[in-house]
Amino acid sequence: MIILKKIALLKAVISQERVANNIIGFIPTMGALHEGHLTLVKKALDKCNFVIVSIYVNPTQFNNQEDFKKYPITLEEDLLNLTRAGCHAVFLPDTDELYPDGIGNLVHYPLGFLETILEGEHRPGHFQGVSNVVDRLLQAVNPDYLFLGEKDAQQCKVIAKMLALTNQTIPLEIIPTMRASSGLALSSRNKRLSAIGLTKAAALYESLLFVKKNLIPGDNNKLIHEAKAQLIQAGFDSVDYLAIAKEADLSDAVIWDGKEAVYILGAAYMEGVRLIDNTLFVG
Ligand code: AMP
Repeated sequence: MIILKKIALLKAVISQERVANNIIGFIPTMGALHEGHLTLVKKALDKCNFVIVSIYVNPTQFNNQEDFKKYPITLEEDLLNLTRAGCHAVFLPDTDELYPDGIGNLVHYPLGFLETILEGEHRPGHFQGVSNVVDRLLQAVNPDYLFLGEKDAQQCKVIAKMLALTNQTIPLEIIPTMRASSGLALSSRNKRLSAIGLTKAAALYESLLFVKKNLIPGDNNKLIHEAKAQLIQAGFDSVDYLAIAKEADLSDAVIWDGKEAVYILGAAYMEGVRLIDNTLFVG
């Protein structure tokens, strides 16, 4: 596996792969890799013959400095896992490389209401940071396919919008969420939970399934209220949101028409760690 730190060298390697007619698959990550990330690598290897993963904890997408400082870093293990998974290259840029004008000089993407709802409402600026880093990484890698996890469903929509806004036609491959046997979505942030916290955190997915099972055409506000109460009862410190949103554009669907496909999405704190998850209901 080739380890690349500089954009110039990365571009040279990618050019060579293009000359060899290889199909390039790209997976942006923030490291602290788990089976969810490695599933993205496997899916990329099924479709592409040159797979590159980036590892970069992007400062501009953290609205909370504590969260940024505490983000787990396990680089040696990550490199070992990527090598074992058959990944061809890893890109480890530093901040000067990705943000030559500094992290205070961001491009602004007109993302519309997508950046003010759900994650956007609770993490102001988050999706501008995500759009900036993914756009910059794509300029560097110029892949044939971009692989993303459905665990971050809103992020997938934001990236699709950013691509449309910047006239980029890279196809997105959205991979279903990998879960622990308890149902808990695998996440780098799970590494910050105690053994008890990990067990309790499975309640987040349970609450989403509870909403999914009991969804009714019409007003589901009472159901959401009940599911939030269950989360607190299960040991979550607080709930940022538990929502029903249209699959098509993530607009609010708590008043459900009984037909449209919807995501049920949640974000809640366990032991001070913010966890997110979602499940899709296709009526
Ligand atoms: P992150 O390192 O958290 O930024 O995630 C990098 C990519 O992996 C994103 O596209 C995530 O949506 C995806 N991902 C994270 N967790 C999972 C999971 N449990 N299952 C599938 N994909 C995931």
